[in-house]
Amino acid sequence: MRFDTIFSMSACCIDGTFVSADSGETFSVINPYDGSLLGNVPNAGAAETARAIEVAQRAFPIWKAKTARRKAEVLLQWYKLIMAHCDELARIVTTEQGKPLAEAKGEIINGASFIRWFAEETRRLYGDIVPGPCPDKRMLVTREPVGVVGVITPWNFPMSMIARKVSAALAAGCPVVIKPAPQTPFSALAMAELAIEAGLPKGTFNVVTGDAEAIGLELTTNPIVRKISFTGSTRVGKQLLSQAASTVKSVSMELGGNAPFIVFDDADIDKAAAGALVCKFRNSGQTCICANRFYIQDAVYDIFVEKLAHLASSLKLGNGLDPNVTMGPLIDQYAMDKMHAFTEDAKAKNGRIVCGGEAHTSCSLFYAPTVIADATDDMRFASEEIFGPIAPIFRFHDEAEVIARANNTAYGLAAYVYTKDMGRTWRASERLEYGLVGINDSRMTTCEAPFGGVKESGFGREGSRHGLDEYTTLKYTCMGGIEM
Ligand code: NAP
Repeated sequence: MRFDTIFSMSACCIDGTFVSADSGETFSVINPYDGSLLGNVPNAGAAETARAIEVAQRAFPIWKAKTARRKAEVLLQWYKLIMAHCDELARIVTTEQGKPLAEAKGEIINGASFIRWFAEETRRLYGDIVPGPCPDKRMLVTREPVGVVGVITPWNFPMSMIARKVSAALAAGCPVVIKPAPQTPFSALAMAELAIEAGLPKGTFNVVTGDAEAIGLELTTNPIVRKISFTGSTRVGKQLLSQAASTVKSVSMELGGNAPFIVFDDADIDKAAAGALVCKFRNSGQTCICANRFYIQDAVYDIFVEKLAHLASSLKLGNGLDPNVTMGPLIDQYAMDKMHAFTEDAKAKNGRIVCGGEAHTSCSLFYAPTVIADATDDMRFASEEIFGPIAPIFRFHDEAEVIARANNTAYGLAAYVYTKDMGRTWRASERLEYGLVGINDSRMTTCEAPFGGVKESGFGREGSRHGLDEYTTLKYTCMGGIEM
């Protein structure tokens, strides 16, 4: 497979080879910008997944036995190849997902940074020698790869979601079987191509496209698979968790969010509005750490609404491949229908549409960047994840009240606070029940820091020095009978 032919290659990747589904069936992948057909990929199911799991299991001892230095070299080579092909990969992401090219490049660079990070971390997979209670014993703790990992990813970051999970798994010594989202399989296949070129042994990197239920059931119930790493909705996460229980698999879950974005009246309002724009409208609002609820203190409420609406209205919607475009389409009609429903619900409850509030004419999947003032806690988006370009603005009076309202959700992924008060930054960071808290900052994702949620946003962490823990187990070896 080559990049210029990737859309015409109808294949999964099993055992280092690009293959069709057993049935020969395929499904179509559509460009969300104009509805054009990009290509077809195999509609594989349980049998192909079982085969991918078996080859991964065969590859496991081979990859596990490589020295840390060798694993690091291969991962680093994968990183270099991705960076060398950054422009082509970004075009694939934009074409199948819709985001503007600059954002797609940012995604490739961010995803690749995780690969480099874990290439470095694999050489520091240290264990412990524990001071023991008996003079004739020595106690060792080593970190071992957990085994074959099943990886299931969504369409909103088709490249970086895979990079984050797979680089940690491989660095720990685990082979992977990936099920990418059906909207964005070509990014996954392009990454497989580069992983093979980088020198990963056959069977360590497998991609199976097709029937989510069948592939998911095989991944979560096949006893060979020892770990499931999932990013997606809380609804599907709960289903996978219960399926994985049957074989007591280790599980990491990166699930939905309902991020509060709190602006106190002492904040720099220009910076808060600029941060809000990125936080809300990046990727057309289809980001798990997107601000979902804006809480603005009384004294700065009107000015914040005005500034954010002004910035949102200046976004340029269009084909993500056009370098002047700053916002792309939504992923599908279901997402469009959801935006209409949120807006109608807010209007019926006296929400004030400051800008947007309707479909944008230029393409069937464009929803205009929308700011809704006078939002109230009985509106649907107070408790539901929007996952689109709607910014509801709630008013608040004091700190205790806003922290309580921000925490009043089943989710706990990301929260944002804008203030210049030092005491308040500490109190907010300590009291917000979230896995990530951005203080005067709305771009916090980086390979050096742990990413993940609490409550129904899931558990487990990606990136950081903790990221490898998700793919390793601790082994305690006790060596007795040592003569003194
Ligand atoms: P989704 O519907 O849960 O789908 C995610 C992935 O799971 C897709 O590949 C999907 O494939 C697959 N899937 C669905 N049902 C399955 C099943 N029964 N067995 C196995 N796989 C199954 O989520 P989405 O709408 O694509 O993505 C948006 C959600 O992801 C949002 O809630 C967002 O917050 C969350 N997300 C979270 C994070 C995070 O880090 N916490 C990051 C990004 C996104 P099919 O489409 O073929 O069903």
